[in-house]
Amino acid sequence: MPAETLEFKAELKQLLHLITHSLYSDREIFLRELISNASDAINKVRFDALANADKLEGNTDWKIKLAPDAAAGTLTISDNGIGMSREEVIANLGTVAQSGTKAFLEAAKRAGKTGEAPGLIGQFGVGFYSAFMVADKVTVVTRGAGSRAADATKWESDGQGSYTLEAAEKPARGTDVVLHLKEDAKDFLDPWRLRQLVRKFSDFLEHPVVMDVEKEVKGEGEETKKEVTEETLNSRKAIWLRNKSEVKPEEYEEFYKSLAHDTEAPADVIHYAAEGKTEFRVLAFVPAHKPFGFDYEEPVAGLRLYVQRVLIMDRCEQVLPTYLRFVKGVVDSADLPLNVSREILQQNPLLDAIQKSVVKNVLEALAGMKNVEYDKYLKFYAGFGTVLKEGLGRDYANREKIADLLLFESACTEPGKFTTFAEYVEKMPTDQTEIAYLIGESAEQLRHSPYLEAFRAKGRDVLLLTDPIDEFSIPQLGEYKGKKLVAADRGEAAGAGEVPAGDKEKFAALVAALKTKLPEVSDVRLTNRLTESAACLVAGASGLSAHMERLMERMGR
Ligand code: ADP
Ligand code: MG
Repeated sequence: MPAETLEFKAELKQLLHLITHSLYSDREIFLRELISNASDAINKVRFDALANADKLEGNTDWKIKLAPDAAAGTLTISDNGIGMSREEVIANLGTVAQSGTKAFLEAAKRAGKTGEAPGLIGQFGVGFYSAFMVADKVTVVTRGAGSRAADATKWESDGQGSYTLEAAEKPARGTDVVLHLKEDAKDFLDPWRLRQLVRKFSDFLEHPVVMDVEKEVKGEGEETKKEVTEETLNSRKAIWLRNKSEVKPEEYEEFYKSLAHDTEAPADVIHYAAEGKTEFRVLAFVPAHKPFGFDYEEPVAGLRLYVQRVLIMDRCEQVLPTYLRFVKGVVDSADLPLNVSREILQQNPLLDAIQKSVVKNVLEALAGMKNVEYDKYLKFYAGFGTVLKEGLGRDYANREKIADLLLFESACTEPGKFTTFAEYVEKMPTDQTEIAYLIGESAEQLRHSPYLEAFRAKGRDVLLLTDPIDEFSIPQLGEYKGKKLVAADRGEAAGAGEVPAGDKEKFAALVAALKTKLPEVSDVRLTNRLTESAACLVAGASGLSAHMERLMERMGR
């Protein structure tokens, strides 16, 4: 029978143009799309075989094979999955935005088999056409499960508006997708490049992605001969999909090290599955120490984003706020589209839901570490405490949780030991209503500050803040558990009490004299905030703090 020519069912030319020019940010992802389709096809035939094992025909050595052919200029992606009948080819490859995979899942649902339905990647029906980003012609030879070798179908198109269909022979079940590579896409014939791409996008895919490689081997005696072996290109270990109880600590460690390029084990592992309206899995790590160069890098946060083990984005910023940018990890969700550009994906509301959950879990993990493994937490905090404080101003909803993670030296702590807001509040004398702090360069220096005298005299503690960011982040926090945060060196700080009425008259002449002698200060006031020193400088309630003034002065202002 001669080949017949059929028209695509859509304004294909325009659509293909759209797909190949704007839907994808990068053309190398064609390989990810075709491997994902092959993986879906394998999962479908496995699923169907649950009800009808004959369908498998004993062919269960699941694999996806890449075969570059330099002489022919083609790259073939083969699978032993479910294959397609002629009708299915027309429906799935002849109609853009028709997803046979989505239809498959819907059929499973109608049959009441949702629980057992296999994890499938495709659902939008455009991924296949990404092949035309690198190929000027695509040939598909496919044979549906349960059909005879002579009943295979050959589909061919240049992606310009029509395709041809003809009957074909195919000894084994499954699909071969042959890409006739464009002149400028011949680098996809390079085995090294293919290996690199598989590792990048499909490393954690369940099924092996294999390629024949030629190796020199020592034969009998001296001569070497070439031997072809089938190499598996992907590691296949997506540990985030396993249950927490099934993953060994060494496995987490190994994965973290490769993910974060760290030589040390992580301080904490956060691994969970969110179920309900949206489903996703998170595997995230808190590093034990600040990586080299962390302070000089652009402050970008992100987790790796996967859809069913397939990499979508290396650093998805939507799922992690910048104040948690030290966290490394992956998110995997079946509910996200595989084949859309970064810009479109960024508007997906699921990403916000994921972020909320990730933040909650990370903050809880840090609180746990602080309570249970304090020494580990101290090391973490030394590296990342400053970063965490950025959240006080940026994450309004969680600011109290973040505040609870902060550590401070105080007038009452031993040098080098820390207290927290919670401890401070707990130890406050009953007549104290505000939390007092003093900002400066070192706790050692602050401990000698005359501002502390009145607080000490009243049995009140003062937090000693020495991190440069405190100047901004602590006022942003404003209060903790309803207790206002006030600078101890401010005019109306809580340490100062009322001056007895008689004293005012007694010292009026002195105060007046000082005012004229010291025109630089805006006011001279009597105080009982000092118990040992005779006088101290105080910032106005709304002016710059003393520490800030020193900083500004140093910057030449
Ligand atoms: P999606 O994967 O989102 O469904 P694609 O454009 O990638 O969309 O593929 C369209 C459809 O073609 C798939 O849903 C599937 O039914 C069919 N298909 C593609 N590749 C294969 C394959 N290797 N084996 C079997 N069916 C395939
Ligand atoms: Mg697909």
